[in-house]
Amino acid sequence: MDDLSPRTFDLIEHSRADHARVVLVDWMLGNSCSYACSYCPKSLHDGSVRWQSVADVLAFYDLLQRHYAQLRGKRVWLQFTGGEPTMHPQIIRLLEAATACGFQVSLISNASRTLRFWERIAPHLDSVILTYHNEFAELDHFRSVGRMLAERMPVHLNVTMRPEHFDRTLDETQALRDAMPAASITLKPLRVDFDHDLFDYTPAQLRIMAAGLPAKAAQTGAMPRGTMTVQGTGLPRRAVRANEFMIRGENRWKGYRCNAGIESLRIKGNGSITRAVCSVGGEIGRLGGTVTLPVAPIVCSAEVCACVADILITKSRPSGQSPERRVTGTG
Ligand code: SF4
Ligand code: SF4
Repeated sequence: MDDLSPRTFDLIEHSRADHARVVLVDWMLGNSCSYACSYCPKSLHDGSVRWQSVADVLAFYDLLQRHYAQLRGKRVWLQFTGGEPTMHPQIIRLLEAATACGFQVSLISNASRTLRFWERIAPHLDSVILTYHNEFAELDHFRSVGRMLAERMPVHLNVTMRPEHFDRTLDETQALRDAMPAASITLKPLRVDFDHDLFDYTPAQLRIMAAGLPAKAAQTGAMPRGTMTVQGTGLPRRAVRANEFMIRGENRWKGYRCNAGIESLRIKGNGSITRAVCSVGGEIGRLGGTVTLPVAPIVCSAEVCACVADILITKSRPSGQSPERRVTGTG
């Protein structure tokens, strides 16, 4: 990366065309967790929201299948989160039903459940995102789960980089890199209260995280998202990772036309459904109730596009030269 000054883009689109056909549903099943990380807001792990009912989840599977897959030829990709989604008491049933609907499924997990459990659910997963929280995680267990899954599907590892434990965490990440040479790894900068402001990192730490820890082998199998390719006046067309937008402070697209709701949905633990994690456009329905799923892009009204899942959605600047078709197509 040259310098860290922000650039302005006319178009931010998926580097792989097939990623634009994926509706990635970020689905928080509840907020119970096996950990209580110091940087994680209580509301994300204290168990104050009951796990969603199987009946409500399955009814929404039907709606997703009709609206996105049958009517628009999209691929529905569920990405379950929590809390810790593997702690949902009916998680195996939910995964089996998703497979039966033809959905693809990922989990964002801390990998804390037993290796035996992960072997049981692996046939119902297409990819996993495992986050290594070294306040609680044991390196050996995390490595065993990750390695078993990496033999069967694409694995992405997020490693949360607490500034005060940066060097130790980097050493452990190197051990994970050696054990899973094909896994993609993000050295994840932490934001205060998971909000907009980054923790207090040194410039050197920021550069290490921006450079990442490149894979040593090719990964087989599909992931729902990858890099975005940017275009802008006077800028070379190039692929950019979500992390880079964040570290350079470029993730500000107020006024842009955005495919939130066309390529993405978000279901909160309490059942509230929005187009994306940002909630731009407001609630479009609730699990177990009436939902009006989007049919067109939306104009961004948020000051910051704070979350990786939201950054990885097609957007274009509302200028004459923006290729609108890239953010209007729903097929
Ligand atoms: S594992 Fe994730 S959800 Fe659980 S406490 Fe840590 S950051 Fe929060
Ligand atoms: S904040 Fe939401 S609407 Fe705005 S660019 Fe990001 S995903 Fe799109």
